[in-house]
Amino acid sequence: MNLVVLGPQGSGKGTQADLLTERYGFRHIETGKRLRGIAASDHPLADQIRKIINSGDLVSDEMLMLVIQDEVVEANGKNLIFDGTPRNVEQYLLLDKMLEKFGGKIDRIVLINIPEEETIKRLTSRRTCLSCGKVFNLITNPSAESEKCECGGTLAKREDDTPEAIRQRLNVYKNQTQQVIAEAKKRGTLLEIDGNKSIEEIHQEIVRGLGI
Ligand code: AMP
Repeated sequence: MNLVVLGPQGSGKGTQADLLTERYGFRHIETGKRLRGIAASDHPLADQIRKIINSGDLVSDEMLMLVIQDEVVEANGKNLIFDGTPRNVEQYLLLDKMLEKFGGKIDRIVLINIPEEETIKRLTSRRTCLSCGKVFNLITNPSAESEKCECGGTLAKREDDTPEAIRQRLNVYKNQTQQVIAEAKKRGTLLEIDGNKSIEEIHQEIVRGLGI
């Protein structure tokens, strides 16, 4: 079973994808993290990708598919969870087509809903470990402001968690991702979940909804 977790930034989709990965053996493919990794490297496209990410816009479908194809090959037949893709209908179709080459498809799209004000609140108080990428939130964990990650890495605000970039990402989400939701509804693959609950409650709801 290949899944997509969808929801506005800060909805907890990465956390839920991690839990499914730990407990059910999926491979978590997080395109934003992978692209940030390339942006911070000496890759020839690093500068170009960093500029796009920091403006809150989307990288091109070609760049995206290159990154995803590598991950799918590395996953070596494991069930996949896509986090951060697809963000529009074109990406949905491209992703499905690519998975077809590997004998699969997108089976379910799990949509985690939270209100817009909650997204802004969660993102402005988010800190990420610069070494391992683990995410902390100052609302639930105020000491994260001064502490280090358990891996020893420094915690910092993501470069694109500025109010302008957050607003731009929400605009992109509202304008484009709604089409993915509509398409998933049409195909009968959508599972909608209320994201304003505890991490464990949301996880259990997802597991029940997927019947795994
Ligand atoms: P995220 O970590 O999912 O918030 O993604 C951070 C940034 O990476 C986005 O604002 C985009 O610039 C880029 N990105 C991640 N996934 C995609 C995607 N599916 N298509 C285009 N750009 C993406």
